[in-house]
Amino acid sequence: MKPTHRPTVNEKVFLVGAGPGDPELLTLKAARLLSEADVVLIDDLAGKALLSLCPQARVIHVGKRGGCQSTPQAFIEKLLVHEARAGNFVVRLKGGDPGVFGRVGEEIAALEAANIDYEIVPGISAGLAAAAHMGVSLTHREHAHGVAFLTAHGAEGEKTDWRALANAALTLVVYMGVPRAIDLQSSLLEGGMKLDTPVVAVENASQAAARAITTTLGSMHEDFLREKLQSPAVIVIGEAIRQRALKLARSHGCDTNEMRAMSHRRVANAAS
Ligand code: SAH
Repeated sequence: MKPTHRPTVNEKVFLVGAGPGDPELLTLKAARLLSEADVVLIDDLAGKALLSLCPQARVIHVGKRGGCQSTPQAFIEKLLVHEARAGNFVVRLKGGDPGVFGRVGEEIAALEAANIDYEIVPGISAGLAAAAHMGVSLTHREHAHGVAFLTAHGAEGEKTDWRALANAALTLVVYMGVPRAIDLQSSLLEGGMKLDTPVVAVENASQAAARAITTTLGSMHEDFLREKLQSPAVIVIGEAIRQRALKLARSHGCDTNEMRAMSHRRVANAAS
């Protein structure tokens, strides 16, 4: 007989977006699934506050924060398969949206290889939370034709065509960029992007500790070092954020010309 109190889960894993940290930004569907789960596998970046929504569940922490001690991806995949095969209602809770730099592709491949069904439940990605924090449209129609979510992981070369990105009239939203800000800066400058292109880094978007650092492409690395920018942060680059960047910069006492002069001076200093 089928149980009526909750859906039958027959070897199905829910890959669920936890959003950027503010619990109110979780979807209703994610909240429901958490309240029904037997097992929740949670990332570092998925806010711990959400665990109050699944007091009945066995929670497994599978932190994967870059640079720190982390659970190997292959182990997480084995665990997902193991828990689903044991007949458990499994929720894999990932920060932001599971499909945006969340390595969900590997988890899907592991589930498919094991013939286990899955469903993705989207979440609000950090880049969107950063835009909300700044109070801007990433696709302001006068300045940007679109938006690109990218990682600075590839800033050393290989896959990313930085020249194309630098000239595409897109707003760039860069994930995992804090340790690679210098490579990101030089790749975009070499690609032809202007020194005074506005840049805002948003740390801990949507959380009480949220902070925005406003700068320009020419000055960003130096400013991030001086301001001690910390992960998690997204770096937003492009003309669509110029008005907002200027407003933030003015509130710190500098105007456009000063921002531009600052960029030239800093790049010249860095080159000397
Ligand atoms: N799937 C996640 C991204 C995971 S990659 C999402 O959709 O948001 C991890 C990177 O996400 C971090 O290095 C940082 O660049 C960004 N990030 C995650 N949460 C953040 C937050 N609250 N504020 C700013 N950046 C965040």
